[in-house]
Amino acid sequence: EESAVGSEEYLFKIVLIGDSAVGKSNLLSRFARNEFDTNTKATIGVEFQTQLVEIDGKQVKAQIWDTAGQERFRAVTSAYYRGAVGALLVYDITRRTTFDSVTRWLDELTTHCDSTMARMLVGNKCDLEDIRDVSVEEGKGLAEAQGLFFMETSALDATNVHAAFEVVIREIYNNIS
Ligand code: GDP
Ligand code: MG
Repeated sequence: EESAVGSEEYLFKIVLIGDSAVGKSNLLSRFARNEFDTNTKATIGVEFQTQLVEIDGKQVKAQIWDTAGQERFRAVTSAYYRGAVGALLVYDITRRTTFDSVTRWLDELTTHCDSTMARMLVGNKCDLEDIRDVSVEEGKGLAEAQGLFFMETSALDATNVHAAFEVVIREIYNNIS
C-alpha cells in the first residue's frame, strides 16, 4: 500500500573508511550539513548521518556511516560494515602513507562486504595543491586497477563532495534497479 511505503523509497547504507585525519568526518559534514570544521576531533556519539537524494524521481535515503576514531588496523568492527552497499575509501593527497593504506582498506572491504558493493576511491584535500604528495594519475591508476570510481575532493572548499557521494548512490541504485 502506498501509505506504508513512507517518503523514502530506498535506504542505502554507505561507509566511510580510510586512515585517521584524511577528512572523512568533514566530507560527511560537508555533504550532510554543508559544514566544515578546522579542528581535528574524535568523532563522538553519532554513528551515521542521513541525507535524502533524488535519483530518477525516486527518494533515496543515504545513511552514511563514519568511523568513530577506530581507524587503527582491524579496529573497525564488522558491525560497521554490515549491510553496507557502498563505500568511500578516502586518502589525503598530501600524505602518501594514507594512499599506501588504500590496499589494506580494500582488503577490509573484501573481507566484510559483498563484491557488488559500489566503491569509490577519494583523494581528499585537493585544495592543498602546493603540498600535494600523490598525483592525480596515481589515484586514477590505482582506482582503475582495482575497479573503483575515482574523484579528488575538498571538504574545505566543497569541490566534488556532492558529486562523489552521488556517483556512489547512483551506482547502488543502478545495481538494484
Ligand atoms: P577523519 O579523521 O578522517 O575524520 O578527518 P577529519 O574530518 O577529522 O579531518 C582531519 C583534519 O583535516 C582536520 O583538521 C580538518 O579540518 C582537515 N581537513 C579535512 N578535509 C580537508 C580538506 O578537504 N582540505 C583541507 N585543507 N583540510 C581538510
Ligand atoms: Mg573522523
